[in-house]
Amino acid sequence: MQTAVKDRTFSFEFFPPKTEEGKAKLRATRKQLAQFNPHFFSCTFGAGGSTQEGTLATVLEIKAEGHNAAPHISCIGSTVANIRDVLNQYQSNGIDHIVALRGDLPSGMAVAGEFRYASDLVAFIRKETGDHFTIEVAAYPEYHPQARSALENLKHFKLKVDAGADAAITQYFYNPDAYFHFVDQVTAMGVDIPIVPGIMPIASFSQLARFSDACGAEIPRWIRNKMEGFGDDTASIRAFGLDVVTDLADRLLQGGAPGMHFYTLNSAGLCSTIWQRLGL
Ligand code: FAD
Repeated sequence: MQTAVKDRTFSFEFFPPKTEEGKAKLRATRKQLAQFNPHFFSCTFGAGGSTQEGTLATVLEIKAEGHNAAPHISCIGSTVANIRDVLNQYQSNGIDHIVALRGDLPSGMAVAGEFRYASDLVAFIRKETGDHFTIEVAAYPEYHPQARSALENLKHFKLKVDAGADAAITQYFYNPDAYFHFVDQVTAMGVDIPIVPGIMPIASFSQLARFSDACGAEIPRWIRNKMEGFGDDTASIRAFGLDVVTDLADRLLQGGAPGMHFYTLNSAGLCSTIWQRLGL
């Protein structure tokens, strides 16, 4: 069943910029995206070597501008004491929304720390802080690359929900059937939290191919072939990418998706165009 527009959740994800130039660019991006009145802006942690300080500084800036901010927090390689400190820091700064992840160990790092899976982190956050945080977790409509089987991956997703997650955001994908199938399957298992599709606009084919190889998201063959055919013609890649992603988002919303989470890569242009084309 379709979710009413007012009940849908829209959000934009950033990564913590490292340079003054990057910070200024992100401020301009936020200003542009804030006009769409999203429910929250989230900020990654750990991806690309970013630090907890970078995430905290970014979410505090977002909050100071009057928007809702949700830091990502990942537990792999962390101790209980570490995570407790981070949660205290967020709580004392008035943050009440969090994206809880396992994360990935940097290559060459063998120490897994005191948490194994995101479900352990969600359970810990609930145990330590009760209902203070709205907790989002990750979902994988095309299954997580390390999952031993699709069914196991669904069961592991349910563990996070049973541990206390309020909502989920998916890895990006370009095949809407994968999303609807995933939602149907976990719904049949008793999951009833909103599962918001993650939307990755396409700016560059080589960048998209690199990300997709790393995270296991499939680029359908017809999209890959068409993009490869454009060669260095970035304008055509962007134009085609806008058509593909707008159509995907439209189908997801028409099919009842409870919102959208945009992977912005700290740029507003493509997300704004998609938003406007959807007439949201
Ligand atoms: P989990 O849910 O713990 O799953 C990881 C793997 O373990 C899966 O294969 C799962 O099937 C398996 N598993 C889970 N529980 C069990 C169990 N009990 N027994 C056996 N196997 C189990 N990464 C970052 O570093 N920083 C970020 O800010 C970040 N943000 C993200 C935001 C979103 C919306 C998404 C979708 C991903 C993000 N990631 C981020 C990537 C994420 O950290 C990786 O995909 C990571 O490999 C898995 O994290 P998870 O929270 O999904 O892990």
